[in-house]
Amino acid sequence: MICLALTIFAHIFPTAWTGINERTFLAIKPDGCQRRLVGEIIKRLERKGFKLVAMKMMHASEALLKEHYIALRDRPFYGRLVKYMSSGPVIAMVWQGLDVVKTARLMMGETNPADSLPGTIRGDFCVDVSRNVIHGSDSRESAQREIALWFKDDELICWDQSTESWIYE
Ligand code: ADP
Repeated sequence: MICLALTIFAHIFPTAWTGINERTFLAIKPDGCQRRLVGEIIKRLERKGFKLVAMKMMHASEALLKEHYIALRDRPFYGRLVKYMSSGPVIAMVWQGLDVVKTARLMMGETNPADSLPGTIRGDFCVDVSRNVIHGSDSRESAQREIALWFKDDELICWDQSTESWIYE
């Protein structure tokens, strides 16, 4: 009930998704699915303490991906990026928690795996910038835009995590 109220409130005031209710959009890319990294990536986020609030496997359309990456439309790799992202299924997810946007980006590593430290997802599991296994929103504003692009409201699940009092003071 509180969560429903928060969802309605957040439509009017998007800043409602802050603090421990902050949300980010993450996607395991087609190479991550093909290379059977889905469980490993989800395990890292779960063990960190973040809460999974939406997840679906889907074959994303080129139209969706062009919109998703619209800010990169003038980059020379844009066409190849859209083709790669639509070449197989992706796992689209929404994760929730304190500073989840920033922390998930740290856990992912840098865009280029060669710049990513061991211990990060890209640092541990890939080598090529154009096959870098995971996407994560780069700001709270991007997260809101991307969540709305990939998910309908009723696909976002409000649930109480019984371990919450062991994760937050
Ligand atoms: P990030 O995914 O780390 O937020 P960007 O938004 O800059 O990075 O780029 C989106 C995606 O485009 C990257 O994750 C990567 O798959 C691809 N990409 C970025 N730079 C290059 C490049 N120089 N050559 C090929 N693909 C690239």
